[in-house]
Amino acid sequence: MCAFFRRNASSTYREAMPATRVNKIGGAERMAAGARVKITLRCDECKQRNYNTVKNKKNTSDRLERSKYCPFCRKHTKHVETK
Ligand SMILES: [Zn+2]
Repeated sequence: MCAFFRRNASSTYREAMPATRVNKIGGAERMAAGARVKITLRCDECKQRNYNTVKNKKNTSDRLERSKYCPFCRKHTKHVETK
């Protein structure tokens, strides 16, 4: 008389956890290198280059326009950006 111990083979499938890809973006801010560029402001009327300044290329992607005093025109004129 043999008593076989039948163990209930509890076959619990371990659900394979899908490897969730976690893209680690963010945290440290990127160094904004090269965003500031040197420009020259040129008078739109007499085409004289009167001012040197810098602008942030990220914030001001289009051409910069400023009303500045031109000593040649002796008044405030529109100055546009040149390289
Ligand atoms: Zn001018």
